Amino acid sequence: MLSLEKRFLDYISYDTQSDSSAVGIRRPTTEGQERLLKHLGDELEALGLDVYYGQENVVMGKLKGTCSGKCIAFMAHVDTSDETEGNGVKPIVHRAYDGGSIALPYLTITPEDEPDLLLYKGSTIITSDGSTLLGADDKAGCAIIIEALSRLVSAHDSLYPDIEVFFTPDEETGSGMDRFPIERMKAEVCYTIDGGREGEIEDGCFNAASVVVRVQGTPYHPGYGRGKLVNALSVMSRIISLLPQAESPEATDGSYGYYYPSSIRGSAAEAEAEILVRDFSFDSLKKRIDFISGTADAIAAMYHAKSTVESSITYRNMRDTLAEKPEALCRILKAGEKLGMPLYVTDIRGGTDGAWLSERGIPSPNIFTGGHAFHSNSEWIALEAMERAVDLVLGIIREAICER
Ligand SMILES: [Zn+2]
Repeated sequence: MLSLEKRFLDYISYDTQSDSSAVGIRRPTTEGQERLLKHLGDELEALGLDVYYGQENVVMGKLKGTCSGKCIAFMAHVDTSDETEGNGVKPIVHRAYDGGSIALPYLTITPEDEPDLLLYKGSTIITSDGSTLLGADDKAGCAIIIEALSRLVSAHDSLYPDIEVFFTPDEETGSGMDRFPIERMKAEVCYTIDGGREGEIEDGCFNAASVVVRVQGTPYHPGYGRGKLVNALSVMSRIISLLPQAESPEATDGSYGYYYPSSIRGSAAEAEAEILVRDFSFDSLKKRIDFISGTADAIAAMYHAKSTVESSITYRNMRDTLAEKPEALCRILKAGEKLGMPLYVTDIRGGTDGAWLSERGIPSPNIFTGGHAFHSNSEWIALEAMERAVDLVLGIIREAICER
């Protein structure tokens, strides 16, 4: 058990916070990510994998199988969120957790706020000191994959098919898959190890679109503007105010989608707003886009302004691909059953790098790491949950043996 813990603590000692403002300028957006990627590449090589690390800044490892079976892939990301401080992490290992509040130097994590803590009474919990996030998202995923591979190759006569491993940068900035070397990939299914709560398997995610509304007004001296001035900003704020408030991120959860105005800027002459739209159903997503378009048209007409609406799909719900290739999910559930591990399947209210692969025909369900309170200074993980994720990865590999 110590080696999984050691690996995890080693990876979180790398400063790999990504930088959303550097997307398109640098890749990876921060240097520390490159250091960890190279380190993981070295570890894969030491385990006997063929490693490719090219211009794409994605580490790709190939393990030659010892028996026939379907080639499968695993993927995790090395960066951490920039929503809170992510560098200089000082981890604290709490052994034999007593079921009470965990007082860190900078904050206290309570079972009231984090009820899942109580599932791990007597176990080992790892946190930061409270001044930064922990980085379990997704260095736990990296540690789980490497630990599983190391157990696989160090056991004599263990049987496994060809396995591919991918470590990506910049998942948190949404640009991680921009240069993914998909043409080098042989696996027809990829398991991302980037989930949270123990037992949780995510097979669906939102469909996502970005809708940009532009309004052209008629500027005029405001002192003499009566009947003449058409203020683009006023028109735009009217359009935004007509988005259904009950269908906002603040008001929705579960399987409900939303409209999320993410930026608005401009002047009396012209204004531009971006509205992010999310829905689990693609048809409903298109209806939401139409609703914005119709509303912008109507309001612009009412105020004698001009409007245009442009929309682009950011990612698609990976469930559509998973439904066509159900074996990807079946393999997880069968492995869980044989391990006596309770698993449940649910949706991510967001996207993952796996959604990018799914859109390209490679189903990519997301597997738990055991981490909680991601992107916050209260982030924590139970070592035992990580251990069970390693078991599940090994179980999935066993399921792929002899499959054609
Ligand atoms: Zn993640």
